Amino acid sequence: MENNMCVGEVHEDGRSAGFHQCCRKGSLEYKGKKYCKTHYPPNEEAKRKEREERWEKNWAERKKEWKRESNQERLISMIKKLESYDKSDFEKLKKLANKC
Ligand SMILES: [Zn+2]
Repeated sequence: MENNMCVGEVHEDGRSAGFHQCCRKGSLEYKGKKYCKTHYPPNEEAKRKEREERWEKNWAERKKEWKRESNQERLISMIKKLESYDKSDFEKLKKLANKC
């Protein structure tokens, strides 16, 4: 008897960390094996790629944001440092600058 079930594996949630065979009918064939639409390798590959691209896009955006944030933080801490200097420090610096 021919097995017309999808050979794809479904990950089980919950207690067991294993997986079982997909219970859908294998309507598509790939390299001699039957797959359902979800587990059909070209479909899975396309999905994986899509997920990867989306992830990369997210990552790039997040990185941009982090960079902007860290620049902002640096600027703020610089300003805070400048604020902590008192006027005499600036006077000293001015004198030093004039000597150069
Ligand atoms: Zn399947």
